[in-house]
Amino acid sequence: MIIKTKQDEILPYLEDTSNFKDGSAEKVFIPQDEKEVFDVIDYAVKNKLPLTISAAGTGTVAGRIPKEGIVISTEKLNKIIDIDTKNKTAVLQSGVVVYNFLNEIKKFSLFYPPFPTEKGAFIGGNVATNASGEYSFRFGPTRKYVKRIKMILTTGEILEVKRGEVFEKDGILDYGKFKINLPSYRTPEVKCSAGYYIKDSMDIIDLLIGSEGTLGVITEVEVFLIDELPERFIML
Ligand SMILES: Cc1cc2nc3c(=O)[nH]c(=O)nc-3n(C[C@H](O)[C@H](O)[C@H](O)COP(=O)(O)OP(=O)(O)OC[C@H]3O[C@@H](n4cnc5c(N)ncnc54)[C@H](O)[C@@H]3O)c2cc1C
Repeated sequence: MIIKTKQDEILPYLEDTSNFKDGSAEKVFIPQDEKEVFDVIDYAVKNKLPLTISAAGTGTVAGRIPKEGIVISTEKLNKIIDIDTKNKTAVLQSGVVVYNFLNEIKKFSLFYPPFPTEKGAFIGGNVATNASGEYSFRFGPTRKYVKRIKMILTTGEILEVKRGEVFEKDGILDYGKFKINLPSYRTPEVKCSAGYYIKDSMDIIDLLIGSEGTLGVITEVEVFLIDELPERFIML
């Protein structure tokens, strides 16, 4: 685990592309594996410290900028765990840089359409913001491509959810040991990033997508891929 305590080392974690200026943190923790993610969460809980999750910092709404407490950065959770060319899926740690991922799957003639224009973002940041980009007009946003999420909660428990297993019924998402009472509003059909995604009969995985680091630390995601698109060129 890398721990940064000097203010000049912490400064880069107090900004993203929002121009928000009032960030502040005591320490930045950079875990190298899930056990160390647990340790950071445990430290924050025991010391009653606010914990802000940081990915690449390309966000535009200051979601990764702490006001106080400590930061956990996913930058060392950067392994592409598996690329399943037969089933067209990939398993990634949340700190994988989108640019690197796109290059890696290109070797297998595969493509991941919903990446944002800023390819320096991390896949975990994309899932936490439900990013969409230039290909989303045709292929849809990140939400559509997330098959499984592994998230570590502030209780230290692991929430591992696969798409298609738990759905909303009577205002509740029943994950067995967690029963989540959903708020009464419903996310509109038009593109909307405000609040948690809440729909009738929704899949529990969609509550985590776009939750902006408020529910837990995403450590791993499994995503759907498509075949590489044909080369395009534009003549003016
Ligand atoms: C030039 C430019 C172009 C852009 N184009 C687009 C675009 O086309 N479409 C688009 O949607 N966005 C775009 N963005 C915004 C940004 O790139 C996306 O929001 C991106 O998904 C953020 O990823 P990140 O890794 O930088 O996350 P960060 O900015 O580091 O974090 C974003 C949020 O996600 C949370 N988070 C990050 N990782 C995790 C994790 N592992 N677990 C839980 N929560 C986590 C953070 O706490 C924070 O709330 C653009 C930004 C720039 C600068």
